Amino acid sequence: MRYKVYRVSPTTIEEANLVNSFENDENFDFWVDIRSLDEPAEIMVSPIAQEYFEETLRQNGVDYIVSVYNVAEIITQAESRAKQTRVARGNVTFSEFMRHDEIIAYLRQLEVDYPDILKTEVIGRSFEGRDLLLVRISSGGSTTNKPTIFAEATIHAREWIAPPMALYIINQLVENPENANMYQDIDWAIIPVLNPDGYEYTHTAERFWRKTRTPGTICYGVDGNRNFAAKWGETGSNNWQCSNTYAGHRVFSEPETQAVSSYIASHKDEIKLYIDIHSFGRWLLYPYGYTNEDADNVDELRALGQLFNDAVYEVRGLNYTVVSFVNGLYYASGTSVDWVKEIGIDLAYTLELPAGGTGFDPPEEDIQPVVQETWEGFKAFHSYIQSKFVN
Ligand SMILES: [Zn+2]
Repeated sequence: MRYKVYRVSPTTIEEANLVNSFENDENFDFWVDIRSLDEPAEIMVSPIAQEYFEETLRQNGVDYIVSVYNVAEIITQAESRAKQTRVARGNVTFSEFMRHDEIIAYLRQLEVDYPDILKTEVIGRSFEGRDLLLVRISSGGSTTNKPTIFAEATIHAREWIAPPMALYIINQLVENPENANMYQDIDWAIIPVLNPDGYEYTHTAERFWRKTRTPGTICYGVDGNRNFAAKWGETGSNNWQCSNTYAGHRVFSEPETQAVSSYIASHKDEIKLYIDIHSFGRWLLYPYGYTNEDADNVDELRALGQLFNDAVYEVRGLNYTVVSFVNGLYYASGTSVDWVKEIGIDLAYTLELPAGGTGFDPPEEDIQPVVQETWEGFKAFHSYIQSKFVN
């Protein structure tokens, strides 16, 4: 039997509510939620629920098409890629997806090769005991308190384009001498894989797993990006533990969100820009997710987002949508971007990287163009932080 993905296009609020009523049923995995009546949702549906789902949509006149007929085929392709060991230990590649241990090996090798500018730091351990590795890039070793750009990736396990994006930033900063000016006055702190248990699980068991891997009484995992102390557990998160947006049994219940939040809190005076890397879409989202009220610095958030977009646009002529989280995606509470803003880091974004193919599982040949294009946006981020906080 086949899991399918449906592209569903409600045209009225009533139709949207009907579609949303499936969200808490574990036979339904909303890959893309309903964002507006102009953009379709993408929903993966288990074999036993397909007939009922199609029947319900038809009876209520809701338009849909099947966008992926056989999810297993994507998974088989991903698995056959995952089984090959391709990248030499300590190296990096942007033409294949890397496993967590390969990523760690590369970062540790960089620390050996570039001891004066790159330091790794284990900021905590995942539930299953994997290192949560942060890379700090600085011309002054790790003891400086320079203005810092902080980026984290892969709190959502299945968003495979996120780790290569973080690795590309590190790679370009450290291994491309042309970019040496970018860490003279500004430090960088980057976590390529914040949810390594989930990420490995997407390679070994369930390609489209999103959450952490802490066991609950019935289901596994918490949505790390609903687990932060910003209107935790309210609109746009879920208290049902089998839901993909389960907020957890309490704020910061996950070792991963605990570790990253304590690091950020203890460095909040230096961190001038925060970016949380996700996929998929072409969205640069600023706070808030839990309210449709504007952030106090919304003009600056928009303007800087536009600088990012202009730089990315130069590469392939493709635009990002720069908008507040709630107006771009949907209501979400307990997100890291809102929490970071609330503790006083004013420039904070959720980056939804583009991905072709089937959304969370872009073809490997898409990695290179996506990370190269987006890197130009990070250069624009850097210029702005440099001119605002250094000279
Ligand atoms: Zn995500």
